[in-house]
Amino acid sequence: MARRELRGEGTARGAALGTARIVYPLDFAVVSDPVDRHEVPAELARVDAAIARARAELDEVRRRLRGPLRREIGEFVDAHALILDDAEFAEGIHAGIVERRLNAEAALKAHRDQLVEAFEAIDDPYLRSRGEDIEQVVARVFAALKRGHLEPRRARAASGAIVLVAESVAPDEIEAWQHEGLVALVVTRSSVWSHATILARALRLPMLVAGPEVFDAVRDGDPVLVDADAGLVIADPDSLDLSRLRERQRAQARSARARAKLRTADTRTRDGLAIRLWANAEHEDDIVLARRLGATGIGLYRTEFLYAAHADGGDEETQFRAYRDAVLAMGGRPVTLRTLDVGGDKGNGSMSGTGGAPSALGLRGLRLSLAQPAAFATQIRAMLRASAYGPVRILFPMVTSLEEAARARAIVEACRAELDLAGVRTGEVPIGAMIEVPAAALVSDRLAKAFDFLALGSNDLVQYTLAADRNDVAVAACYDPLHPAVLALITMTLDHARRARRLLTLCGELAADPRATALLVGLGFTDLSMHPNALLEVRERVLGLHAGALRKRVRRLVAAGEARSLLEEAGD
Ligand code: PEP
Ligand code: MG
Repeated sequence: MARRELRGEGTARGAALGTARIVYPLDFAVVSDPVDRHEVPAELARVDAAIARARAELDEVRRRLRGPLRREIGEFVDAHALILDDAEFAEGIHAGIVERRLNAEAALKAHRDQLVEAFEAIDDPYLRSRGEDIEQVVARVFAALKRGHLEPRRARAASGAIVLVAESVAPDEIEAWQHEGLVALVVTRSSVWSHATILARALRLPMLVAGPEVFDAVRDGDPVLVDADAGLVIADPDSLDLSRLRERQRAQARSARARAKLRTADTRTRDGLAIRLWANAEHEDDIVLARRLGATGIGLYRTEFLYAAHADGGDEETQFRAYRDAVLAMGGRPVTLRTLDVGGDKGNGSMSGTGGAPSALGLRGLRLSLAQPAAFATQIRAMLRASAYGPVRILFPMVTSLEEAARARAIVEACRAELDLAGVRTGEVPIGAMIEVPAAALVSDRLAKAFDFLALGSNDLVQYTLAADRNDVAVAACYDPLHPAVLALITMTLDHARRARRLLTLCGELAADPRATALLVGLGFTDLSMHPNALLEVRERVLGLHAGALRKRVRRLVAAGEARSLLEEAGD
């Protein structure tokens, strides 16, 4: 097929080439114009061929299953194969084509709707939930139909270059796809500030948010070039596209090599101000990278990763070992362990034990931990025990009030006393609060006194201040980290922390954006925490700044509502 180009918004930088793997939305759109009588046999043949291909794919999935997943996943695969093997499944779709003159896709959708409706009417909740299998089988047949006669290009897929095209993707799904060879993501529902994006950036996977027309323009198995920097998705790219990609990849490799020299550089501005660059970590690999790139320490360890592997985060011993290993890997540099922060897009509801996905305004962060004191104490004990191996700091997410802060601190003290009594060694452990809701920023003078240090989470502070969901692309334009209200809260927190002589680290994505470094240093930040992948670029930027001159200008520009000019001035 000829080259097709689509525009979108790049959310994680980079460009990559791979084979499209499409996860069609369950409510996929179809053209429902009737087909002519003479087209009926061809549509019937398309359906049969698509079912056969879907069936062959399932065999392939079954064949590749290994290890402990073999039995568990195998059962689902078998259930799906049974649906496809059932002659009534094909007959139901055929009926739509013959009797209603629907095309293959529309007939498939109509049959799906009928079956799902029948399942929904079943009383037994288990059987009712099997309706999901129908949806998944239909999505697989739909993908095979869209692919037409083409087989997925196995050679490319085997070389491990997959471009995932989906409505949305959860962070743990990204991890799973990575094992399959994921090189880029195109989604129709996400934003620059979502956790999926943060993870994509951390893993250096280009990511782009496109319109739903991507499901028509790109077919499963097509070669796709994703250029997140230019905001482009190109299906069946031509030779010019490919040579441009190669040129860009060469340029990126050159600048990465040049930056590598900065690994051991002292991070000071031209006028001698030391800026400490900390690392945000999501799992062990980040810690190794942080150490290698000379991070001051781990400024934010998102412990949610433990919940991806264990539904309850694992027992105390499992958690302790993970924290201890991080502390050991950092070789004496501080590790800031954040207690569990389950949020709207951070994982499924099972993490919270509350049923559905926790909403951004619901029982999340510290609130959830306080509602589940036993699990909270387990996590705190594991963290305190890790402190015997090197410097550890504990950080609470989503603090909104002093009362909450006092309750949480009391639990830490109780855990410490318990460990002391049992003769378990622990080190000095500073306790910090995240300032990421406007209420916390507004009382940051008192929070600064109640805690040993503060960490500013701009990702959430922006969404809560501006009432703009960080995951919703529809309000992406409202999500403005440079909005005067956000900058006022940031400035206020900086002033309060300085007066109370407390360390304040910025650990939202803003810290990782080299275009914002001048603004942040000018505002008065001396500690920035970011994914280690961003560290060298930000360090490079710091080396070229004059803090004294910036400080004078930035506050003036912020007061005049012109902060943005600084961001743009920093250039690319
Ligand atoms: C933040 O909100 O800025 C932050 C660092 O925390 P997270 O992105 O994990 O919510
Ligand atoms: Mg947050």
